[in-house]
Amino acid sequence: MRTQVAIVGAGPAGLTLAQLLHVEGIDSVVIENRSREYVEARIRAGVLEQGVVDLLTAAGVGERMAREGLVHEGIELQFAGERHRIDLKTLTSGKTITVYGQTEIVKDLINTRLASGRPLLFEVDDVHLDGIDSDRPCVRFSHQGTTHELDCDVIAGCDGFHGVCRPTIPARVLRTFTREYPFGWLGILANVAPSNDELIYASHDRGFALLSMRSPQISRLYVQCRPGEDIADWPDNRIWEELHTRLEIPGWTLAEGRVLEKGITPMRSFVAEPMRHGRLFLTGDAAHIVPPTGAKGLNLAVRDVQLLAEALTVWLRHGSETLLDAYSTSCLRRVWRAEHFSWWMTTMLHTLDDGDPFAVRLQESQLRYVVSSGPAATSLAENYVGFD
Ligand SMILES: Cc1cc2nc3c(=O)[nH]c(=O)nc-3n(C[C@H](O)[C@H](O)[C@H](O)COP(=O)(O)OP(=O)(O)OC[C@H]3O[C@@H](n4cnc5c(N)ncnc54)[C@H](O)[C@@H]3O)c2cc1C
Repeated sequence: MRTQVAIVGAGPAGLTLAQLLHVEGIDSVVIENRSREYVEARIRAGVLEQGVVDLLTAAGVGERMAREGLVHEGIELQFAGERHRIDLKTLTSGKTITVYGQTEIVKDLINTRLASGRPLLFEVDDVHLDGIDSDRPCVRFSHQGTTHELDCDVIAGCDGFHGVCRPTIPARVLRTFTREYPFGWLGILANVAPSNDELIYASHDRGFALLSMRSPQISRLYVQCRPGEDIADWPDNRIWEELHTRLEIPGWTLAEGRVLEKGITPMRSFVAEPMRHGRLFLTGDAAHIVPPTGAKGLNLAVRDVQLLAEALTVWLRHGSETLLDAYSTSCLRRVWRAEHFSWWMTTMLHTLDDGDPFAVRLQESQLRYVVSSGPAATSLAENYVGFD
C-alpha cells in the first residue's frame, strides 16, 4: 500500500486531518485500532471554540452541528453561594462557543470520510512505525488477519495519549512536561433537560462541580473526586446528592434524571516537545493533555491538524518545507497558552491542599477579581473562546 499521509488514530484529530487533506485533494489512509462502534460511543468533550466550529463547517462537516449544536454566549462562575455570568460574546467582540458532543463530531467525520471513498480501517492491530528519520517512512499493521506495509510521505501520529507514535521518537529527542493533579472528575450523562441554559462552573468547599449539557434533553454533570476512586463507590444517589450540594443556590434547584453513563477521569497536564521528528508529526492528545476544566483538549487537537494540513498542502503542492519546519513551534505556542489557561481554571475552581484555608481565601479572591474586573473577565473570556 502507498499513500501520501498515513494517519494513525481515528479520533477527532485523525479524522479532521483526513477531511482537511481530502478537501485539498491529498491522499491519506486512516488506521484505527478500535471498532467504529467503540469510537463513536466514547463520551468525552463537548465544548467547541468558535474557530473550530468555523473550520469544521468550512471543511464540509458542519451541517448537523449547525442544526443540533447549542450556541452559548456566556458561562456562569459560582462561588460563596453566588452565581456570576461571564458574557463571552460581549467580552470577545462577538465570539461564542458551541456545545456539540465529541461523539457527534466523530460520527459526522466518519460518515464524511466513508462517503469520500478514501480508506479508513478500523480494528487494526500491531501498529509499528518505521523509517521516521528517512524520507521513506512506513507504517506496518495487521488488519483482518493480513499484514500490511503502508509506505507514505509522512506519518501523522493522531493516536492519543496512550498511542504508539510518540514512543517511536527517541528519548534523547523528546522532552516531556507533566503535572498530575490530586483529584479527578466523576462525570455522568443524564437523561434530563439541563437545569440551566449555560454551563455552571462551581467552586464549593466540598469540591468543584460542573453543570454542562449535550442536547436540550441530555445533561452532562461532573463532581471533583479523589483520583483512583472506584466508580462502584459512587451509586447514583450519592452523585446526585453531591451535585445538589455543590451546585444549588437559593431559588435554583437541579433536576435529576436517569444516569445513562458514568466514569472517573484523572486530571493531568502533559506536553511533549517537539511535536515533529523527521517525517512523524504528533497531533492532539498524542502530544499534549490538559485537564478538562478549560474545555481545550478537543479544540487543541483540531487546531493542530489545521496547521498540519496547511503545511502538508504547501509542501506536497509546491515543495516548500517552511510551514512543516514551523509546525512544532507554532503548535506549541498555542498549546502552552491552553496549558496555562487549563491549569489556571483548574487551580482556581477545585478544592486544593485538603481545603487549606489559605488556599481557599486565595481562590475566592481570584474568583471575585475575575467577576468584578472587566480586564480579568476579558482574559478568561478570550482564552475560553480560543485564539485564532
Ligand atoms: C471526560 C473528558 C471530558 C473532556 N472534555 C473536553 C471538553 O469539554 N472540551 C475539549 O476540548 N476537550 C475535552 N476533553 C479532551 C478531548 O476529549 C481530547 O482532547 C480529544 O479526544 C483529543 O482527540 P485526539 O484525536 O487527539 O485523541 P483521541 O480522541 O484519544 O483519539 C486517538 C485515537 O487513536 C486511536 N489509537 C490509539 N492507539 C492506536 C494505535 N496503536 N493504532 C491505531 N489507532 C490507535 C484511539 O483508539 C483513538 O480513537 C475531554 C476528555 C475527557 C476524557
